[in-house]
Amino acid sequence: MLDINKIRADFPILSQKVNGKPLVYFDNGATSQKPQVVIDAISKYYQEINANIHRGVHTLSQLATDAYEASRGKIQNHINAKFAHEVLFTSGTTHGINLVTNGFASILKPGDEVLVSALEHHSNIVPWQMLCEKTGAILRVIPMNQDGELIMAEYDKLLSDKTKVVTVNHISNALGTVNPIKYMIDEAHKFGAAVLIDGAQAVPHLKPDVQELDCDFYAFSGHKICGPTGTGILYGKEAWLNKLPPYQGGGEMIKEVTFEKTTYAELPHKFEAGTPNIAGGIVLGTAVDYMNEVGFDNIQQQELELLEYGTKRLLEIEGLKIFGTAKEKTSVISFNIEGIHPYDIGTIIDKLGIAVRTGHHCAQPIMTFFNIPGTIRASFAFYNTKEEIDAMVAAVKKAQLMLS
Ligand SMILES: *Cc1c(COP(=O)(O)O)cnc(C)c1O
Repeated sequence: MLDINKIRADFPILSQKVNGKPLVYFDNGATSQKPQVVIDAISKYYQEINANIHRGVHTLSQLATDAYEASRGKIQNHINAKFAHEVLFTSGTTHGINLVTNGFASILKPGDEVLVSALEHHSNIVPWQMLCEKTGAILRVIPMNQDGELIMAEYDKLLSDKTKVVTVNHISNALGTVNPIKYMIDEAHKFGAAVLIDGAQAVPHLKPDVQELDCDFYAFSGHKICGPTGTGILYGKEAWLNKLPPYQGGGEMIKEVTFEKTTYAELPHKFEAGTPNIAGGIVLGTAVDYMNEVGFDNIQQQELELLEYGTKRLLEIEGLKIFGTAKEKTSVISFNIEGIHPYDIGTIIDKLGIAVRTGHHCAQPIMTFFNIPGTIRASFAFYNTKEEIDAMVAAVKKAQLMLS
């Protein structure tokens, strides 16, 4: 079982006051807070081993390189990748997806099809649109139902020999829906299509097993799993990473350079041009260690309780409607109150110390589907409590009184 007081003490920001009220941080879908071990690891890196990696023969460069590669190994284990060189450091999910779409520009032909789900974050829509514009490929959308679940019967109909890529999130950031990605991956592979999973909202809640999933790419961000901003991972199957051209040219990604021709470095360096976020990459390993120490079973149990309790308490409020009522859901509650703009609620409850997200959550097509301007989104992490949910519900009720 989770010792919630001990966990909360790991996060210095949680004992802070905002606008004179105790902070209730329910914007974990946007970014998670950082435990003291992560904060300390950043300064320890700069105090003790800061040097550029993979280049120097000197001791510090070696120490920094070893720490960076050890972190890659930790993440390889964490997601169960077959090889460490299938784990690429990126600046985040957005970077990872763009690396893949850039690579597919030399593979797709006019008339090829890319399937994208109706539940995507803009960063898993726009790069594919840009790719389709460049190549003449066609973007098709896997539709969803009123509960915010993808419709598998429609997905089955969309798949064909023309399908070259399927891209879908593991969990929706706007609604919390957990998508049936194992089924989707297996079906896509029957047609020879590659599958990219946007795992940005999944890794905070579960440990993905990329070999069991058999996905071709899996992208996520470090900052949503207690790690630093500007860090992320793109997992890619070796065969695909060998097939795709490099994303950026520069130092570190080459084997030999002449003005006539350059040959590229082996994986993973082929995709890691320039000096990376060394401190961030190392500390991402610290964050993953921390999450594993807390334990994903404990994390899931705590978050499920918060989801059930939060859903029940919020539904007590008159005129409140929850968007995203999928059977498989994580601890995200998107809601609106009849006749009140989500932004107005968000602004008032911020004055009461409650941090939630309001707006379209980088998923405008979902808001269009429900014909709403946006929602209020409360996204819970394992360090949140039922008492905090009570504080939010009281604040929302107060805002409702003031605004109606
Ligand atoms: C946050 C998020 C992204 C973008 O992540 P960045 O860290 O901003 O690159 C993409 N997809 C989903 C589902 C997300 O939640």
